Amino acid sequence: MEITTKLSSHPASDERLAEILADPGFGNYFTDHMLLVEWTPEKGWHDARIEAYGPLSLDPATAVLHYAQEIFEGMKAYRHADGSIWAFRPEANAQRMARSSKRLALPTLEIEDFVQSVFELVKVDQRWVPEASEGNEKSLYLRPFMFASEPFLGVRAAHHVTYMVIASPAGSYFKGGVKPVRIWLSEDYTRAGRGGMGAAKTGGNYASSLVAQEEAYSHGCDQVVFLDAAEGKYVEELGGMNLYFVYADGRIVTPEVGTILEGITRSSIIELAGKLGYQVEERKFAIDEWRAGVASGEITEVFACGTAAVVTPVGELVWEGGSLPSIPAGGVGETLRKQLVDVQFGRAEDTFGWMRRI
Ligand code: PMP
Repeated sequence: MEITTKLSSHPASDERLAEILADPGFGNYFTDHMLLVEWTPEKGWHDARIEAYGPLSLDPATAVLHYAQEIFEGMKAYRHADGSIWAFRPEANAQRMARSSKRLALPTLEIEDFVQSVFELVKVDQRWVPEASEGNEKSLYLRPFMFASEPFLGVRAAHHVTYMVIASPAGSYFKGGVKPVRIWLSEDYTRAGRGGMGAAKTGGNYASSLVAQEEAYSHGCDQVVFLDAAEGKYVEELGGMNLYFVYADGRIVTPEVGTILEGITRSSIIELAGKLGYQVEERKFAIDEWRAGVASGEITEVFACGTAAVVTPVGELVWEGGSLPSIPAGGVGETLRKQLVDVQFGRAEDTFGWMRRI
């Protein structure tokens, strides 16, 4: 894909950038540039360009604002100790985006075009990739997304689509040490049904999760866990992370894919845990198994995983009128987290060939 670049006339000053990178938080600041590509049925993907970051001007009838035909991805660029910048399994994000685009009737971007688009933006904005150290794992969060940009109110797949990449420096998820998340069990709301969009990374799934997330906050919880829509029996995933259950006998169970988002961290853990000698089962996992396993002591650890936190221990599980006590983090999640983070930041050998130099 041919990408033209027009550099910003007003990049952040070195002083301002240093201030931002000292404490970026998450999703607060954006780099100097953004990448855009247009699509029409006649021309396919065209007009790929990098330009100064700034607001878009949209017609009020732009289809995405009405029918939510949009998808996105989330990944990171990591700076290694020698200054080089790397991505973790970017092809996996590209493939997931291609799967999402099929579900949302959006055009597919070739794997190599997706990877190139992300890499080109990171190269142009490389001074925004923070330096990291052990225990202070800062990175540059990358947000590729695609939306129906045609101004048209008829309900059909849009004939003009825009793909973009923006980037935002991200601070260490666990400032001041790893803290278990307290989880709210959503019994009134579900996230995805059979034949729905659960496996796609699309805004609608997050919009529908917000009311449950608010419920979680109002009960003093950080995250919400959803059950399957058909029977309300099986554990699916958190609002933004996948789940793992560790058994005393060395088995590790994670809910099977279908109506959940297939996390890149989730699939990396399947491979890594297998190599470490754990027997990983991908299957339906009933909420009653969770309750019984913790009560009997068979489940020794529960953890959640995703790009943002990598791995985070799950503490107490709370629902209307009850709760399941926190079990102490058993160390499996922490071992997996350390191995993944060390590979991402170039502190351990990349035995799976997951890293790509940008
Ligand atoms: N489930 C949901 C609903 C998510 O939003 C995310 C974050 N992308 C995940 C799981 C974890 O996916 P990944 O490991 O690719 O970040």
